Amino acid sequence: MAKICLCLTGKTLSENIELLEKYRRYIDMAELRVDCLDSDERFLIRRFPEQAGLPVILTIRRTRDGGYFNGGEGSRIAILSRGLAFAEADKRNNFAYVELEEDLDVPGLEEAVRTFGTRVIRSSYDFESVENITGKIKKLRRMGDEIAKVVVTPKNLKDVLAIYRAGRDNGGIEKIILGLGHFGANTRILAKHLGSSITYVSDMQKQEFPISSATGQISPRDLVERFRFREINAATDIFSIVGFPLIKTFTPQIYNTVFRHEKIDAVYVPFPAQDHLDYFLELAGELGIKGSLVTIPYKEEIISYLHMVSNDVRITGACNTIKAVSLADQKQKGWNGTNTDILGFSESLLHFMNRKNFRRLKVTVIGAGGAARAVVSELFRLKGKCLILNRNAVRARELALRYDYKWGGLDSHALDTMERYSDIIIQTTPVGSFPEINEDPFELYQFNGHETVMDLVYNPSITVFLKRAQAAGCLILNGFDMLIRQAKHQYQYFLDRDFPDQLIPRLAELLQDKDTVQKL
Ligand code: NAP
Repeated sequence: MAKICLCLTGKTLSENIELLEKYRRYIDMAELRVDCLDSDERFLIRRFPEQAGLPVILTIRRTRDGGYFNGGEGSRIAILSRGLAFAEADKRNNFAYVELEEDLDVPGLEEAVRTFGTRVIRSSYDFESVENITGKIKKLRRMGDEIAKVVVTPKNLKDVLAIYRAGRDNGGIEKIILGLGHFGANTRILAKHLGSSITYVSDMQKQEFPISSATGQISPRDLVERFRFREINAATDIFSIVGFPLIKTFTPQIYNTVFRHEKIDAVYVPFPAQDHLDYFLELAGELGIKGSLVTIPYKEEIISYLHMVSNDVRITGACNTIKAVSLADQKQKGWNGTNTDILGFSESLLHFMNRKNFRRLKVTVIGAGGAARAVVSELFRLKGKCLILNRNAVRARELALRYDYKWGGLDSHALDTMERYSDIIIQTTPVGSFPEINEDPFELYQFNGHETVMDLVYNPSITVFLKRAQAAGCLILNGFDMLIRQAKHQYQYFLDRDFPDQLIPRLAELLQDKDTVQKL
């Protein structure tokens, strides 16, 4: 059972105690990062385990291992010895663990800590490569009771795959494998699938999303409440979202909330990726991923990997949802794909406009990517007339020609035609989405106030483009309702069961307010 460990990086011990109190109900243990303490506080660490009231790891991380301690090894060992000295018979008052690096050799200290029941975590840090994790794990432990800890920084999904393979290959060894950074965040959530005995969480002041895109750190509350860490185990089914950058996606929150509500033993995890899709599919096989949402930049590329695709994928040439299936010979797994953006889009806009179709309406679609393909195919099916404008006009042309629609670039030449195609304007590019929230996809266009304007972006809830439209008097709709509706179809496709409709209004309300998801 992997334990949740809060990294304490405060400058003072009392600051760290405050952090502990803030997160106590979410964590099992803490790591006192002595290297982050002010130097006079470093003399006072001996009583910290007693004050903390839960198991504590004593760590003094050197700068070369990503920490802040830049003194010599002699003074580091002196501080370690001070922290571990005067061990008490009541083990709860001693440090439960001490982290010692692979190259540190202090047999006297190690013998003393063992005598009083403090466990050694023997660590190795490699920020450049993920090679030979298995070899490191095997070599690290000097005694059978040590915990091997390997920290690496995966730079892509190929690296992430290597981490999970190492986890599997070292099944019987007590270990911690941690992937740092944006690509490694999943190793914190799936510590149990990886066979890690400890996962690390951090206090996060400013949250862009439950996972920090810079460090991959997750707050204790998010790990427990959004990613349901306590409820999942090594056999829990994994669903995922793959794409890049995935710093603004709400999909894991929708699914994890629904899984909890419906008591389904599954977790939804983001896998940011930019490399070849082969690596994702290999990883999916390794982890037994049951289904995945596929987003930028893979919606088109994924199709060539699929065994069977729905009609929607065939029509649009874009796939946003894949599901693992057993192939006929039963030995092999394959993937089927569908596109849930299609119905998500049309149901959302038709509901908003209180219409059954788009007959006699002239529509401008901005963008010609995967989402635009879904949008345009529905506008065509539901009898709308379209103008497609895209930064790359060739792509707009390609899409428009399929339906005999008009097309153009996103420039002043398009303005006259756009005025005639302005009953509805649908913005399908990521422009204006978090974190570049001040960007406008087509600032040359001045709204006249009669347009209905939909922006597929849902974070922020009102983009600069929608703000301008609203100010001119237009009716505006963001991509949030579409997101929920497509998730509903996806859920049905993945699990062959009905989405809990009663959750939809509540989900929409809670997901707008990122801090209240756990109340569900
Ligand atoms: P995609 O396949 O990568 O297509 C991106 C489109 O945006 C292309 O047309 C691209 O133009 C254009 N674009 C990108 N950056 C641009 C820029 N700086 N200026 C002008 N145009 C730019 O992505 P997608 O899958 O279609 O997704 C697009 C957006 O829709 C994303 O924000 C996504 O989150 C959102 N979305 C929302 C929902 C929902 O349920 N609400 C569903 C699906 C997608 P070029 O061809 O010139 O590169």
